[in-house]
Amino acid sequence: MGSAPRPGKLPNFPLAMLYADVILPLPLPGTFTYEVPEALAEGLTTGSSVEVPFGRSKLYTALVAALHQNKPEGFELKPIISVIELEPLIGESHLRFWRWLSEYYLHPLGEVMAAALPAPYRLSSEMRITLHPEAGEDYSALDDRAFLVAEALTIQRELSLKEIQKILQRKTVQPVIQALIKAGFAQLQEELRPIYKPKMRRVVVAAEAYADAGGKLNDSDELRELFDQLEKRAPRQLSLLMAWMHGSRDGLPVYRKQLLQRTGVSLSSYQALLDKGILEEREERVSRLEGEYSEGVLPELSAAQLQALEEIQAEHEKHHSVLLHGITSSGKTALYMHLMAQCAAKGRQALMLVPEIALTTQLSNRFRAVFGPRLGIYHSRFSVSERVEIWQAVAKGELDLIIGARSAVFLPFKDLGMVVVDEEHDQSYKQHDPAPRYHARDAAIYLAHQFGGKSVLGSATPSLESYTNALDQKYGLVRLSERFSGQKLPDVQVVNLKEEQHKQRLSGHLSDTLIEKMNSALERGEQIILFQNRRGYAPTIRCGQCGWVPQCVHCDVSLTYHKNSDQLRCHLCGYRKPGLSSCPSCGSGQLHYQGFGTEKIEDELALRFTSARVARMDLDTVSGKRDHERLISEFEQRDVDVLVGTQMVTKGLDFAGVSLVGILNADALLWFPDFRSTERAFQLMAQVSGRAGRAGHGEVLIQTWEPGRVIFQQVIGHDYEAFYQAEIAQRRAWTYPPFRRLIRLTLKHRDAEKVGNAARFVATALQKGLGKRVLGPAVPPVGRVRSRYLQELLLKLEKSPQVAQLARRQLRQVLDQLAVHPQFKSVELAINVDPM
Ligand code: ADP
Ligand code: ZN
Ligand code: ZN
Repeated sequence: MGSAPRPGKLPNFPLAMLYADVILPLPLPGTFTYEVPEALAEGLTTGSSVEVPFGRSKLYTALVAALHQNKPEGFELKPIISVIELEPLIGESHLRFWRWLSEYYLHPLGEVMAAALPAPYRLSSEMRITLHPEAGEDYSALDDRAFLVAEALTIQRELSLKEIQKILQRKTVQPVIQALIKAGFAQLQEELRPIYKPKMRRVVVAAEAYADAGGKLNDSDELRELFDQLEKRAPRQLSLLMAWMHGSRDGLPVYRKQLLQRTGVSLSSYQALLDKGILEEREERVSRLEGEYSEGVLPELSAAQLQALEEIQAEHEKHHSVLLHGITSSGKTALYMHLMAQCAAKGRQALMLVPEIALTTQLSNRFRAVFGPRLGIYHSRFSVSERVEIWQAVAKGELDLIIGARSAVFLPFKDLGMVVVDEEHDQSYKQHDPAPRYHARDAAIYLAHQFGGKSVLGSATPSLESYTNALDQKYGLVRLSERFSGQKLPDVQVVNLKEEQHKQRLSGHLSDTLIEKMNSALERGEQIILFQNRRGYAPTIRCGQCGWVPQCVHCDVSLTYHKNSDQLRCHLCGYRKPGLSSCPSCGSGQLHYQGFGTEKIEDELALRFTSARVARMDLDTVSGKRDHERLISEFEQRDVDVLVGTQMVTKGLDFAGVSLVGILNADALLWFPDFRSTERAFQLMAQVSGRAGRAGHGEVLIQTWEPGRVIFQQVIGHDYEAFYQAEIAQRRAWTYPPFRRLIRLTLKHRDAEKVGNAARFVATALQKGLGKRVLGPAVPPVGRVRSRYLQELLLKLEKSPQVAQLARRQLRQVLDQLAVHPQFKSVELAINVDPM
């Protein structure tokens, strides 16, 4: 104060104005700067969430990425409207992680934010708020503003953020809306599932008239009188009351459900006690995280497992990441449990990533049984409420053990000490659509690194990338080469379909060899898994007269026939129409169903194995978490003899009863026009084989028309090493990953010509800096999806930081040019770094 401005330096006026760079949940590059009004500055920090105006009168929840006092020149700044939450939603380590995702995968930071935060944390003025269908009438938890909005919602059912601003006569509305959502009154309209409805349960308490200060029954004369009466006239009510007194003696809550179950007394006797005014019910919020589990003990490790565990620890002294190459059924899961428990014992958090589908099954139950309520399970099929609860518990550090699918990498860990990636080779770790197209395994490794934590990647069939990293000493390498049960890996045999056909041992899609094996397995009371990677009945219908094939109207693919629903369906866009009895082109009734899917196998099984119990597991029979769980438990309890399915049956299932696995059409796995198809085929065959013989002897039959391919020898010999050597040589020869980094650009537009021109424009622009590293443009194998024509470009980049930087710069430039190009700005461009 009082000091005159020195020459050459501007006076600090107004006094040290604070500015915030914030991330908006929009696909826009970079951060945006806002003024922080003095009244809102206190306590504001990196990670705080604020409400800001953006564009023409829109409001968004934004996240503070940085605070500073440098006023940006050249444009007028708007002020932050309100602070939603001072407490940071994510910490500094996580913010660095977001920035890395944004840089590496070439997606705007806001897009990362939109993917990372659960919906209630990123409201915007475009959203509409509706009354929650199960909203109660108890407004007592709401403050005055929330009450006003709740009231308006009961009348209008639906309000926009603008309307809510009017009702409250103020701009700051987001905190009110969040409060309403949290209290279970409102939900965001976009959400299909209700948002944050707390789960309630009924607690039985002593009625006020008879309660003492501690909530127990008092010893008034009146009550004694009542007891006497009950004893004479209503012994059941008395026993119920005694049970309640017993249950509540230590001040613990007694739940209605428990009380009724334990005493076996009818609801009417219970109601009578309530009517007499002795007991009362109160609703209490239950945390969804709390199950009815108790903490168990860690499994005792075998000598081989113990050795592997010690090796992992030793390798972690030298490396951040360790690859655990453990054969199927070697007991990797038990190792993961020990690793995570050790991490938690040090007071740090541990995350285990698993492929999406594996989570709904046995795995979560096994972890739950050991870790009880300390374990959080995070899954995209969980409701928003469940996800918000886990989010909060992780942020507070209440949960120290998490298993989750891909998106669990976004949880707000406080101190992540260990990341385990189970089945690290699984391609479902790569997010395709929508953006950000990140690889959860690689992201998790980076995330652990930010916290100074370690990672373990586990697989029986490691990805070429990870195995190469291990051989190059970038990762530690630990092997676990025996099955936990001591059982051998199953016998794998190839069935030559040509030969079977020649000997007239192939009438449908199951060879006689397979049928014979199935019969003997069924006779012995053993279970069978059949794998066919196509759902539906027949992938193509062709007219025998004129050759006409039904096609999707929106995509360039033929429609798959589904017999159960008698429909033709597109597996890309979901388009469907009724089945046909004759050719719409020439009228012929000669329609041939070509190829086969899981439905057709199910049909064949019903004809050939009349007494076997068959179930099918694919996207058509399994739509929710429940369906999957039900099927798994039926199979586990041996209510099903034969399980037919798509990829779903290859992942992470552990059934003691399965002795035979059939791979019905191995050739289809090898066809794909993709440099990864051999790797994928090997992984699938080895993984599904690994389901057999976990407890006894096991057999695998692979049906193929081309039995001479070397890959079958590798699968028969369980010889990952041989597979790796052969495949890595191919990759080197053709300069594919892991020797190069790929970036795929996909352009989409309704106008085929326009997208073609745009693709050539992009290619030319990129070639200026990147030269021959740019391949294409070309129309991909399916050239039109959802009525939009596609063009693809592939960048093949040497693995050097300079080239990566060059590519990034070029791509940014081209994106900017495309965005303002008079003809091409409506063309959509999707960038996929490390496509799978
Ligand atoms: P992987 O994941 O390596 O294929 P799993 O972890 O599913 O193998 O283990 C195979 C089987 O062995 C499972 O049934 C599992 O319960 C059992 N198992 C593995 N390790 C142990 C252990 N230490 N104690 C008891 N059972 C174990
Ligand atoms: Zn025809
Ligand atoms: Zn379609």
